[in-house]
Amino acid sequence: MFKKILIANRGEIALRVQRACREMGIQAVMVYSEADRDAKYVKLADEAVCIGPAPSGQSYLSMPAIISAAEVTDAEAIHPGYGFLSENADFAERVEKSGFVFIGPTPESIRIMGDKVSAKQAMIRAGVPCVPGSEGALPDDPVVIKRTAKAVGYPVIIKAAGGGGGRGMRVVHTEAALLHAVQTTKAEAGAAFGNPEVYMEKFLQNPRHIEIQVLADQHRNAVYLFERDCSMQRRHQKVIEEAPAPGIPRRLIEKIGERCAAACKKIGYRGAGTFEFLYENGEFYFIEMNTRVQVEHPVTEAITGIDIVRTQIAVAAGEKLPFTQRQIQVRGHAIECRINAEDAYKFTPSPGRVTTWHMPGGPGVRVDSHVYANYMVPPNYDSMIGKLIVHGDTREQALARMRTALSEVAVEGIKTNVPLHRELMVDANFEAGGTNIHYLESWLAQRER
Ligand code: ADP
Repeated sequence: MFKKILIANRGEIALRVQRACREMGIQAVMVYSEADRDAKYVKLADEAVCIGPAPSGQSYLSMPAIISAAEVTDAEAIHPGYGFLSENADFAERVEKSGFVFIGPTPESIRIMGDKVSAKQAMIRAGVPCVPGSEGALPDDPVVIKRTAKAVGYPVIIKAAGGGGGRGMRVVHTEAALLHAVQTTKAEAGAAFGNPEVYMEKFLQNPRHIEIQVLADQHRNAVYLFERDCSMQRRHQKVIEEAPAPGIPRRLIEKIGERCAAACKKIGYRGAGTFEFLYENGEFYFIEMNTRVQVEHPVTEAITGIDIVRTQIAVAAGEKLPFTQRQIQVRGHAIECRINAEDAYKFTPSPGRVTTWHMPGGPGVRVDSHVYANYMVPPNYDSMIGKLIVHGDTREQALARMRTALSEVAVEGIKTNVPLHRELMVDANFEAGGTNIHYLESWLAQRER
């Protein structure tokens, strides 16, 4: 096992990985920007290295700064967390070329999956069902673009091959709007992701977002840890996640899960990963794969009892998966609410000093957050400042625990989206389960009126 790991991230996930290291008897090196200098998880680290000023381009995204921090501290491996450089194949490659272990899949896997066009092609070859759409990237020829859209059938969605974080997508309802939409998405994609390539998919009208968690080792073993339902989204960004997905027959989950595990073996995947699907009328359609740990991993940890981060580290060190598929069982139900520093209904970011920070507890309650009273939420990064996760024997119990937990939360000094979560946990449709990806946005629109 590794003796020392460098954690190339910040915030709650940096703390999450640090906790796993502690538990495994591994020393944790923290890197931090000037904005995160005083964070408690930085102080708790065995070693900490400042890698630059607040803007992430000059710190958390700086490959040379992170690699030299690993060199000076004699770390053996680098855990990238999520976001920042976690899905950057060039980074993974530079980490390995510099003699460190990258805690994640190979640079080749990241490269294939990071480009949504090549990812879809790989999945079609591996027998994973995909959303119908263009075969590969769209060409420039307007005639071909129009013909493709007609064949796929309106509405279609134009998506950036290099897109992520819910950006770089445009829905088109009519042929009249098609070419302009393709041009604009291309231009935006070029500017935002450095890759102007776009592709087309059928726009599914009322799908749910269901994803499959996988874990694979370097000895050709791969398992799936069942599903998460992440349909409660705003602007294609997840707000609430839960596992299992209400109302989906277990045999369908097992069937798609087996496909995902088989695809991992086929592409030589290693580490943790997530296959994201849209689910409509009993069918799964692959949309993308995330080659890293995800924000919502705790709901899966809750229902399976498997520590995903610990397993990531173990398989990166060359260990075999410590369980077989048959040993992985679903127990109970888990729900996660993402706590963001933002206005609950206007969604404007609300950085600043946290004066009161009181988090809930009790049976089945988990809080993953690096925040504490007097913590300063920097304005430079993502607004998510923590996650509240509950686990119960049934979905009803999980919901009841979440309501109680949310009622105990007290945060002052900044605004959070906790009031939104409180309302959603008593919404009749959410309570019934199985809401689709548009539900939250329409609920918000309704609330405005
Ligand atoms: P990103 O990498 O930016 O997260 P995804 O491809 O995972 O992009 O899509 C994010 C979200 O966008 C999905 O969860 C879904 O809400 C919506 N979406 C993407 N593709 C489609 C589609 N073909 N039809 C309907 N909605 C889609």
